[in-house]
Amino acid sequence: MRAAVYRGGRELLIERIPIPTINPDEILLRVVRCGVCPTDLKKLGSDPPVSPRVFGHELAGVVAQTGTEVVDWQVGDRLVVLHHAPCGTCHYCRHGSSAQCPEYRKTGLTAGFEPAGGGFAEYVRVGAHVLNHASVRLSDPTSFDVAALIEPMSTVVKAISRLRIAADSVVIVIGQGPTGLMFTGLLSLQGVRVRTVEPNRGRRETSQTFGASEAFPSVDDLVSAAQRAGDAGSRGADAVVVTASSATAIAQACQLVRAGGQALLFGSTHPGSSVPIEPSMICAREIDIIGSYGTDVRLLDETASVLFASLRPWSRLISHVLPLESINYALELARNPESGALKVLVAP
Ligand SMILES: [Zn+2]
Ligand SMILES: [Zn+2]
Repeated sequence: MRAAVYRGGRELLIERIPIPTINPDEILLRVVRCGVCPTDLKKLGSDPPVSPRVFGHELAGVVAQTGTEVVDWQVGDRLVVLHHAPCGTCHYCRHGSSAQCPEYRKTGLTAGFEPAGGGFAEYVRVGAHVLNHASVRLSDPTSFDVAALIEPMSTVVKAISRLRIAADSVVIVIGQGPTGLMFTGLLSLQGVRVRTVEPNRGRRETSQTFGASEAFPSVDDLVSAAQRAGDAGSRGADAVVVTASSATAIAQACQLVRAGGQALLFGSTHPGSSVPIEPSMICAREIDIIGSYGTDVRLLDETASVLFASLRPWSRLISHVLPLESINYALELARNPESGALKVLVAP
């Protein structure tokens, strides 16, 4: 089969590799769509280099083969399956931190080599644990393009579940790439007043079609508008979501949030970076700085429902669908917001 293999450097190589062999409790999935995720881009050029690998974990596809012990799935069934699933029984799982479960850190999908997602290949071996605990069955007419958004959107649904918000809350979302737009769409559906900050004009305008009540090119513009609005505006937001891993944006979020509110860091996963924090902000102003990582498999069905209910134009999040041979162009588009790209999907 064809696969985009990472062997170091910044590019992937299209190679012929064997179709994975499955165990009796596993299935082989034919990948129909796989989204490019910022974490795929981070892994390229990583130090120390990890290779060879086949990345890609935002996938949707069709069952191509079932192991002899598999009873719930048949060849031809359509599904989305995540690359991680928690054990459900350890201390972390029992105390509401399933993304910190040691089992969750393992990867259950591979196209060959050390498991790394495998979606940038024609076929993926789906491990029993993720198949049984982190899969979504798709009904017949669903679009594979939209289905490929289930994994990334489930991480946003989980992050929102960590916010204390009500229908009259004000939430600022900094960054309106595909993830930021998902936050905007989902929060506005809950009745929250969403203000977005995004320098890229196209993305800023799109945020309004996803339900943002106001969209600003910079934090300074948002602050001036809030000052003009008077008391309620200068109180600050109930929550500020930072979707870009930028120290400046994190510092700004802590200034934009009201006393007693929450700053949510999403995608700030670079170890080693640091931001100065004023302890009085946490103690006297009672601001919670929280994060969210990965998904909660209990929210998968809810994610699929909200996506397929189409109350927001989710398919507009997909700017490109490209063949596997164009994988390096796909990565380049996803890396550069000025390209006009949002979510880039690969069709192996
Ligand atoms: Zn992802
Ligand atoms: Zn666990």
